[in-house]
Amino acid sequence: MKTIGLIGGMSWQSSIEYYRIINEAVDKRLGHPHSAVSLMYSVDFAEIESLQHAGRWDEATAVMLDAARRLAAGGADFVVICTNTMHKMADAVQASIQIPILHIADATAVAIKLLGLKKVALLGTRFTMQEDFYKGRLIQKHGLDVLVPDADEQEIIHRVIYDELIVGRILPESRAAYRSIMQHLVERGAQGIILGCTEIGLLVDASDSTVPLFDTTRLHAEAAVDEALKG
Ligand code: GLU
Repeated sequence: MKTIGLIGGMSWQSSIEYYRIINEAVDKRLGHPHSAVSLMYSVDFAEIESLQHAGRWDEATAVMLDAARRLAAGGADFVVICTNTMHKMADAVQASIQIPILHIADATAVAIKLLGLKKVALLGTRFTMQEDFYKGRLIQKHGLDVLVPDADEQEIIHRVIYDELIVGRILPESRAAYRSIMQHLVERGAQGIILGCTEIGLLVDASDSTVPLFDTTRLHAEAAVDEALKG
């Protein structure tokens, strides 16, 4: 089995989910009492969040490069960045290490294409919804059509992530707000919805949507297990 290198702590609420899903999947695939061989380097999210919101992406990239190098030096065979947003610097991180990064958007696109869907909506942080690093990969590399929420809806999605989900606050009113934003995206033509932030799966599930949901945490964690058990 390969050693999975996880960059976690963004936030730790979702890193726990990665750890649980990965180990459950290995147990299921190999039987009791198997578990995954993994390393996690977990950052202080307070530092990351303030660098993000100040637009200090070079410093945030330096933190990510350092984390990836530590995992590679520790014996990881590949790297899993446990957040969608911090794939913004995935190319820079990849250029600084010899081991591959398993990209979260690729794992997600595979699942979307497996269901034969073409037009999907993307929920995530403002950075993920507005910038090109994630949407662009889905469109250019995977041939998908990607819708994002309207500007005021994006504000709600972003605020709930940073004010609530990353500190483990799961509120029924926020779930209702997400549910109505998702319904609006379906009315605009979305055939599926990407939960493109690794904490959103803590708030909503399939029962909140009339179209398939693609939970990036689960898809990315399961892709990591596929990779770890390959060959
Ligand atoms: N976990 C989130 C994501 O998947 C947001 C936290 C972060 O900014 O890294 O984008």
